[in-house]
Amino acid sequence: MKTKGIVTGIVSNLVTVKVDGPVAENEICFIDLGGVKMMAEVIKVNGDSASVQVFESTRGLKGGDKVEFEGRMLEVQLGPGLLSSVYDGLQNNLATMENVFLQRGEYTDPLDRKKTWDFTPIAKVGDTVMAADWLGEVKEGWLPHKIMVPFSFEGEYKVKSVKEAGSYTVDTVIAVLTNDMGEDVNVTMVQKWPVKIAIKGYKEKPRPNKIMETGVRVIDTLNPIAEGGTGFIPGPFGCGKTVLQHAIAKQGDADVIVMAACGERANEVVEIFTEFPELIDPHTGRHLMERTTIICNTSNMPVAAREASVYTAMTICEYYRAMGLKCLLLADSTSRWAQALREMSNRMEELPGADAFPVDLSAIISNFYSRAGMVVLNNGQTGAVTFIGTVSPAGGNLKEPVTESTKKAARCFYALEQNRADQKRYPAVGPLDSYSKYLEYPEIIEYLDKTVEKGWVDKVLLAKNIVRKGKESAEQINILGDDGVPMSYHVNFWKSELVDFVILQQDAFDAIDALCPLERQRFMLDLVLEICAKEYEFEDFEKCREFFKNLINELRQMNYSAYESEQFWSYNENVKSMIA
Ligand code: ADP
Ligand code: MG
Repeated sequence: MKTKGIVTGIVSNLVTVKVDGPVAENEICFIDLGGVKMMAEVIKVNGDSASVQVFESTRGLKGGDKVEFEGRMLEVQLGPGLLSSVYDGLQNNLATMENVFLQRGEYTDPLDRKKTWDFTPIAKVGDTVMAADWLGEVKEGWLPHKIMVPFSFEGEYKVKSVKEAGSYTVDTVIAVLTNDMGEDVNVTMVQKWPVKIAIKGYKEKPRPNKIMETGVRVIDTLNPIAEGGTGFIPGPFGCGKTVLQHAIAKQGDADVIVMAACGERANEVVEIFTEFPELIDPHTGRHLMERTTIICNTSNMPVAAREASVYTAMTICEYYRAMGLKCLLLADSTSRWAQALREMSNRMEELPGADAFPVDLSAIISNFYSRAGMVVLNNGQTGAVTFIGTVSPAGGNLKEPVTESTKKAARCFYALEQNRADQKRYPAVGPLDSYSKYLEYPEIIEYLDKTVEKGWVDKVLLAKNIVRKGKESAEQINILGDDGVPMSYHVNFWKSELVDFVILQQDAFDAIDALCPLERQRFMLDLVLEICAKEYEFEDFEKCREFFKNLINELRQMNYSAYESEQFWSYNENVKSMIA
């Protein structure tokens, strides 16, 4: 018997319901509005009164309307066909619709029920299996998509039968499993999972031990993110958060990409719709969309749907991680998510925390970030979810609660600075405030020693130090004047400009400069450090400036030339003779 209820109060999307039976927090219910069933989620229960947030406009809703509770949480459907799909936060398939906006009470099927997939069995009759173990495989694009024992299954099962190789729809029973009570259960290619609960089904979650290459120098060289690591990009409006995140999406070394777009502006979300399907993946030469899922929220969608979208995106990533794949989750912007939490909490008249955000904002953000990570599966293979979110602090104030809470949760911090953006020093990642905690992990240091160069992290710290010294010198020069400081101040300043222009700055819109492979990053940092290691004597500061400007010019030409080209190596020759 389903619990039923009656609407007793409405404040925007928050509806109070008098219930006739048990309901639980996060349970899903449907409100009947003249035959249209609108989905809502329980956020608080108080005796026989439940507060539910409706995922749609509550226009026309009135006291006395009927509610039916589902006895389950908000779930997503997981199965072949998630990739190359565009969903909203409730997993409505937006790409199959003519118009981006669903009618109220309209929910679409996230997976194509008619499409057939070429299935190959992995498990054999008689095998003992557990939740998340692989039963078979289909090809989704060119990625192996594992059909797994549903994550909700508890204990051990015996495989009673598995379908032989063949072409089947997602709803076909591909295996029958027997539990320890002797009962048979059917497994299809689709399973459901509640989005707010992390998918388990792995053996362990060790610390990350390698980095995820992005082709962006400020990240890979100076503040690398681990595979299975976490990072965030705070920055004022227009400083390049979206451009940087798209660069990571296009170039990041991952099998599967999930983008959660909670648009700052509606047209940004539309841009994703139109731009992403056109993009070519630099790693495979195929359409990037083939291995991408987009979760979109347009600004006219209600707060509750916005809140759900990041969880939906994370759950899809965890699903692919369980197949032994490397997944990259990007959320732009998580501030929209936090604002959704704030709106709901205010409507519930909860005691507000800082800036009226919920008191437990920090815990909510930490819990979410902790779902990322590298895992060792039961079969010994590994999978990863790397998560990078953007934060858009009002007025660029990094002391606001969302930025502060995210700083505690994420291991990499890529602070975009207004003054760098104003000077067109893109990506505007601040070289001194930004950091990667992974540079302190012994596993990561060892990995970089082996794959990039022995002593690499020391070189990275050296480069950061050059920038720091340059900034101090610049301050002195500003106070005392060009002639009031020793020549070494000018030299230090220009060495830091060299690091800035050649390593930090990168043109996301240049076909060659946009993507800088790690091997090339190593070459450039070594070259820049070789230049900076030398002592230079100049007659006056103008000569110093001229010398470094010319040098920077040659090095920038290198960044714009193909690594293998003659051009690149002839600029390199020029540089070498200039510093000889
Ligand atoms: P935000 O998302 O922070 O509001 P955007 O990512 O939309 O900002 O960036 C705003 C503008 O800054 C872009 O349209 C682009 O002109 C410029 N820009 C940002 N990053 C770069 C980059 N790496 N290279 C060149 N231009 C950039
Ligand atoms: Mg943006």
